[in-house]
Amino acid sequence: MEKRPCRQYLCMTVGYLEQVISDFGFGIAVKHPESIDLPKSTIYQMAIREILKHPHPTLRKKSKVVTEFNEKLKQLVADMADTMYDAPGAGLAAPQIGVLQRVVIMDVTSKEEENQLIVLVNPEILHGEGSQVGEEGCLSVVDYTAKVKRFEKIHVRTQNMEGKESEFEAEGWFARVIQHELDHIDGVLFIDHLSGLKRALYKKQRKKQLREEKHVSHD
Ligand SMILES: [Zn+2]
Repeated sequence: MEKRPCRQYLCMTVGYLEQVISDFGFGIAVKHPESIDLPKSTIYQMAIREILKHPHPTLRKKSKVVTEFNEKLKQLVADMADTMYDAPGAGLAAPQIGVLQRVVIMDVTSKEEENQLIVLVNPEILHGEGSQVGEEGCLSVVDYTAKVKRFEKIHVRTQNMEGKESEFEAEGWFARVIQHELDHIDGVLFIDHLSGLKRALYKKQRKKQLREEKHVSHD
C-alpha cells in the first residue's frame, strides 16, 4: 500500500495529536504485534525487488500458506522491507514481488517517526466490525487512488517469522492497511472494491498508459 501522504502530518500540532493517534490506531499500541528489527544486512543481502504492476497475472493468484519458517523466509522479508521502504509504501505483500506466499509487511508510522516494521505470516482476519471509508493507493496500481470501504476494527490471527502464533486487534488506518495487504495474498486488489464505473475508468486509464509505454519502447 502507498505511504500515506505525509503533508497531513508535517504540520502536526498538539491539537492534531488526538486525531492522529486514533487515525493510526496508536491507542491500542499495546496490542500491536511486536515490530521487529530488520534482519541484519551483514547476514541477509537485502535487495530491492521489482514491484509487479496491474494487470500482471501473478497479482491475481492466491498465495500459499507458509509452512517452513527458515532462512529463506527471513530473506524474503528482508527483500520485501527493502522494497517497501524504497518505494516508499506503508505495506507490501509477497505476491507484489512475485512470491506467492502468505507474507505481508507494513509500517504505519509517519515519516518523522522511527521505522517500525510489522511482519505477518499466514495472517487471517477472524472478525471485523464497523466501517470506515478512506483513500487508498497501491504500489501495484499505477497513478490511481480511490475511496474504499473497510472494517473499522478487526481481530487478526497471525504467525511471526519463527512460526509463533498470536492474535491482536487493529483499528483505523492500521486496520485499513492490514485489510488492503491481506487482500493481496488472496489475489484481490483495492480496485475490486470500487463501483463498476470507477473500475472501468481506471482500466481505461491503465490501458492508455500501457499503450503509451509500448509506444515509447518501440521508438
Ligand atoms: Zn497494494
